Amino acid sequence: MNKCEHMDKYWDKELTRFKIIKSVWINEYIRMLWTGVMNAFKEKTGCVCCMDDRTEDGQLRLAGSWILLAEEIWIDWVVKIMKDFDVDEVTSHDDCWAAKLYASNKNLDISKSDEYAKEFSKELAEKAGLPYRHIIVENPHAARCIYIDFTNMFNPKWIHWLPKGFEITARWLPLKHIIDEIEVAYTVSTWEDLFGDRINENSQFYIFVVGTPDNFYRFVEKLNKFILKTEWKVRIDFFNTINF
Ligand SMILES: [Zn+2]
Repeated sequence: MNKCEHMDKYWDKELTRFKIIKSVWINEYIRMLWTGVMNAFKEKTGCVCCMDDRTEDGQLRLAGSWILLAEEIWIDWVVKIMKDFDVDEVTSHDDCWAAKLYASNKNLDISKSDEYAKEFSKELAEKAGLPYRHIIVENPHAARCIYIDFTNMFNPKWIHWLPKGFEITARWLPLKHIIDEIEVAYTVSTWEDLFGDRINENSQFYIFVVGTPDNFYRFVEKLNKFILKTEWKVRIDFFNTINF
């Protein structure tokens, strides 16, 4: 099976799920299926990790464990946030698309992106006085959506009927950076080797905002420019957690 056929398989696997979500929206979809949903709100513990759909649950999740915010000014701030969140380790992972973007942005050798991911996460761990670990992933990357988690407690991986997606721990992050991260996720998902033009104005890439109405409306206002840039290949949906 070549890579494209692999991606067909992953795309088709979630097609029905996305069709239902498109017709009833995510709140109703969750209400319909419900079983296990409270499991997704267990308090997070653990690592700093990439937002990639193939890494394990982590307490703080952002592209490439923050590799795209690799300037010194951010790193010092990030170390403080990590202490606040009481994380216990920093991770990197194989085939990290954020690391590939990092290499491409810096005109570095993209074939060595795993090495840059390791170096960066190791250094971040050292600065925070935490252990470092590399995660080996087995499957191809296959996320057609991103969860923007303003509760900082949501684990979509624990609910088998939710679509596989990127996950960002968002509550502490400036809105501009959340949008930058969404742009990364969208770029990765629409990459030719991944879902490519399977994502279009009829079969969109989904942004699931998880949080309160206040989180949602403040955030959505800032997204217009990005949605226009994608020519409506992105759909925003909202999981209202006000009663959780
Ligand atoms: Zn990654």
